[in-house]
Amino acid sequence: MSKLILLPGKERSLLRRHPWVFAGSVARLDGRARPGDTVDVVADDGRVLGRAAWSPQSQIRARMWSFAADTVIDHAFFKRRVAESVARRAAHPLLARQGGLRLIHGESDGLPGVIADRFGDVVAVQLTSAGADKWRDAIVTGLVQATGCVAVYERSDSDVRALEGLGPVTGCAYGALPEGALTIVENGVCMEVDVVAGHKTGFYLDQRDNRLLTGLLAAGRSMLNCFCYTGGFSLQALAGGAASVLSIDSSGPALEGARRNVELNPQLPATRAEWQQDDVFEALRALRSAGRRFDLIVLDPPKFAPSAAHAERAARAYKDINLFGFRLLNPGGILMTYSCSGGIGLELFQKIVAGAASDAGVDGRILHRLTAAADHPVGLAVPEGEYLKGLAVQAG
Ligand code: SAH
Repeated sequence: MSKLILLPGKERSLLRRHPWVFAGSVARLDGRARPGDTVDVVADDGRVLGRAAWSPQSQIRARMWSFAADTVIDHAFFKRRVAESVARRAAHPLLARQGGLRLIHGESDGLPGVIADRFGDVVAVQLTSAGADKWRDAIVTGLVQATGCVAVYERSDSDVRALEGLGPVTGCAYGALPEGALTIVENGVCMEVDVVAGHKTGFYLDQRDNRLLTGLLAAGRSMLNCFCYTGGFSLQALAGGAASVLSIDSSGPALEGARRNVELNPQLPATRAEWQQDDVFEALRALRSAGRRFDLIVLDPPKFAPSAAHAERAARAYKDINLFGFRLLNPGGILMTYSCSGGIGLELFQKIVAGAASDAGVDGRILHRLTAAADHPVGLAVPEGEYLKGLAVQAG
């Protein structure tokens, strides 16, 4: 097997079990390896640190499969890792019976570059690294065996694949999608999931717990849901007894999905919901000009800062929407505000939100610190896995 030799001292993060080898840590590759091939990772003093997948085109030159020198990286390895990941969810009382569930969350489940989400009988998979791409068959087989699903649909169309020199791959990797729309029940609400054309793998599972909390807080309140996608927060709010829900998204297909979701739930008071296709930045200003106010506002924007390099511009965008969010809140109202940007840490996000409140003349207090649900674990050694952060702030 080829050996990836590190520069002196560059083994430190690996000894702490951080699974990435950056380009700047590599002394040389002894032997030959194609993208995705397994290599031994060796410290400057000759110590073998484990086995990794080689990604020659990426700034992350290698991702560790194992921190043991003797782990055999083969089909059986992936079958085992996939089965363990699925079993951890099955053993968690809040996750075991979820129809929509993240089964594999990349690095934090010991499978860098692998995302797998279950939606009923279908698993949607996204492979984002050369190593994950190489082991597609083993990963897909592992998922089929661990879940008994009827289909595995691949959504490897994320932009980050380009950083690895990989093109997009989409389509059924196993079985065939069932006829008709795929649906899941999330905390009592039925939601359609479009694994073929929806965002990411079709549905934002990470916000499940926060949508439930929103439903609880929504009772009797007027709500504004910005960046609503297919209406996840809105439907939970309707189920929770919201007085009214105005939902805004710029995507026509997302709003069509939201309307279908309302139809899928005839128990919900559809007439209390209003859907608006609009740019949120403009819509917030228009609502302000019109003198509108709300008791509960959700801001769940897309990733404004994919990396730290975009942090400054992203910070301005977060500041802008949060400022308007606070201005539109009734006294005693609650703003539930999120960032899913890896490039914006919790501390910075909280500063931005505090600045927005202060500029809006709002004396706010944090009621809840919010994060992704337990099927999106964060490896202690991989803190950058903690991308989703949210604050529920009550205005004085
Ligand atoms: N809250 C949703 C997920 C939001 S994802 C849920 O729980 O499922 C972010 C959404 O923001 C996407 O639906 C995208 O279409 C929308 N979006 C992105 N930029 C926008 C903009 N400038 N104005 C309005 N919507 C926008």
